[in-house]
Formats: sequence, structure tokens, C-alpha cells
Amino acid sequence: MQRALALARKGEGRVEPNPMVGCVIARRGRVIGEGYHRRFGGPHAEVEALTSCVEEPRGATVYVSLEPCRHHGKTPPCTEALIEARVGRVVAAVADPSPLSGGGIRELRKAGIAVEVGVGETEAAEVLAPFLTRVALGRPYVIAKWAQSLDGKLATATGDSKWISGEASRRQVHRLRARMDAILIGSGTALADDPMLTARDVPVRRRAVRVVLDGRLRLSERSQLVVTASTVPTMVFTSKAKVGLSKAGRLARRGVEVAACRTHRGRPVVADCLRRLSRRAVTNLLVEGGPTILTSFLKAGLVDEAWAFVSPKLIGGSDGPGVLAGKGVARVADALIPRTVVTRRWEADTLFRMRLTEVPRS
Ligand SMILES: [Zn+2]
Repeated sequence: MQRALALARKGEGRVEPNPMVGCVIARRGRVIGEGYHRRFGGPHAEVEALTSCVEEPRGATVYVSLEPCRHHGKTPPCTEALIEARVGRVVAAVADPSPLSGGGIRELRKAGIAVEVGVGETEAAEVLAPFLTRVALGRPYVIAKWAQSLDGKLATATGDSKWISGEASRRQVHRLRARMDAILIGSGTALADDPMLTARDVPVRRRAVRVVLDGRLRLSERSQLVVTASTVPTMVFTSKAKVGLSKAGRLARRGVEVAACRTHRGRPVVADCLRRLSRRAVTNLLVEGGPTILTSFLKAGLVDEAWAFVSPKLIGGSDGPGVLAGKGVARVADALIPRTVVTRRWEADTLFRMRLTEVPRS
């Protein structure tokens, strides 16, 4: 199963909104075939593995990181291929909670194939977390990223944040962007930094839609986001009232999708925006906002993974913003207890990659 999971990870950024799945076929401890889901619309892992077999898979054991599907989607059901190949046993790590593709285990058992579920489940669930989050919770898997100085500030008192992290960690951010379905900021960051939010100088696995939460529709028509909206998908969530303004019309004519969402005290309700993004098959969302956006996501318990780049620089003073903004943040700080922390170094910067939520299970 370890091998199946390693294979599954290779599909990252290419298979979504499908799950990353890997499959190994073995007989008497010897691998006779293996494969993984390579890209959305392509063959599933089981079919890749069956096709790669160096000998007849009849009677062999199939290790697969997710329950084989039984539905006719872009490709025929994997259960059918496994039954036809007359494999002897199927060992699946995680049961498929999706009403659409799930039910494969029952189908296989009906055909007389022995099935075991739950082997390597914990690790497989982590690999499948983005898929399971969207299917079970109806929202994207959220990664929040920020860069901070050694004294915990995201920017100087004047709002300058560009020089906090080093070249190597900025490159990591571009790699991360290159596998996202959507990248989100608030209007404050859009106005202060005027970012492009595109993945530059790295291989791009998918092109993310750029999303701005902008309850008051403050986004400048001359911003880089708006100017490039005809070539890079760009979306603004604002209140119902603002959607009718002439500014919304002007943004739309430049290629920006202006969408209404629920608001609370003039600010977009994060959970509502996530639901709407999930309906558009957004599986992985990167939040790159400043303190206001980061705090609202953390407060709502809607950050699955946090990437904090810490740079050995001191900003000083009492005015530079930290990660958490506003009132009632002490409660948020208490709630932010990572389940796992992985650290990595790039030049002088250290990345703390933290998993905050449990993988939702059916
Ligand atoms: Zn399948």
C-alpha cells in the first residue's frame, strides 16, 4: 500500500477534481503491475495497473488506495475491469464516500472477489484529504500561506510585505500556486500589494482562478488582477447590492466574474464563498490574504493546512500587522493547535507546514 500511495501522489495537481489514486498488483509478494491516475479524464489507477501487468493478473491481489469506482464517468467502471481480469483479492485503503462513484466494494464481493478495506487507511486519507473534504463537507481543501518576520509580522507598519521572505521560499509559493484550483485574497491585500497571483517560472499543472473577497467592491480597475482578467480567470465575491453597480459592469466587461455571496457586516461570509467555489469543482484553494482574511478563515475553522514561512528578519515597532487581526483572536489562537508539523528550510527561511483539521470520514 505504501507503494500505491507513493504512486498516487504523482497525480497531484493533474487529477483534480478526481482523487489521487495509486494501485499495485502483486502475486506471492511479487509486483506484477502498477499504475496511478495520471490526469483528469485519463484511465483510473486500477486500469493503468491492469494494463501494465507483465503476466496475467488472474487470481492476483490488487492494492489500491481508494475503493474502486463502479460508475460510468469519463472512463468505464474499475470494478468491471477488475472482475473481467478475474483478480483474486482487492485490498483498498479507504472506502469511497462519494454517492456517485462509491459502492465498488459491494460490487466486487457480489462477483466473488475477496475485499479488505482499511489497510493503510490513515496515511491514504491524508493523501485523499482534498477529495474527501470536497465530497464530505462540500467545500475545497484550504491551504493558508503567509510569510512572517522573526518577530511575527506580515508587513511593516506602512504595509510593505514584499521583502519579508527570501527568493527560495517565494519559489515554493509559485510551485504551490501551480497546482491550485483557486487562489484567494481579500480586497485589502489586492489594494496594498497589487499582486498577480500567478505561478511564475515553475511548471504549471493547472491554472488557478484568482478570487478576491471584496464586500465593498473596492478592487481597482487598474489593478494587475483586473488588467490581466481576460487571460487569467478572475473572480470577485461581493454583496448582492454591489453586483448591480456600474463598477461591477465595468469589471465584468474586462473579464472579471463578479459574483454575489452572503455578507455579514459588509464582509463576504467565507463559508458561503467556499460552498460556491466547491460547486465549480474547486478542490484545492490557496489563501494568501493578509491578517483580516487569515483571521476570518482561522476563526471559522476553515484552514486545513497552514504554510508559515518564517524569515530571520526583525521589523520591530508595534504597528506592523501579525497573523491574527481584530477582537476575539485569543480564542482563535487557542484553537490553532496543529495535528502535525513538518518543517523545511530554504536558505535562511523556515517553513512550518501544519495540518490543522482532521480528514473528514464518512
Ligand atoms: Zn475507477
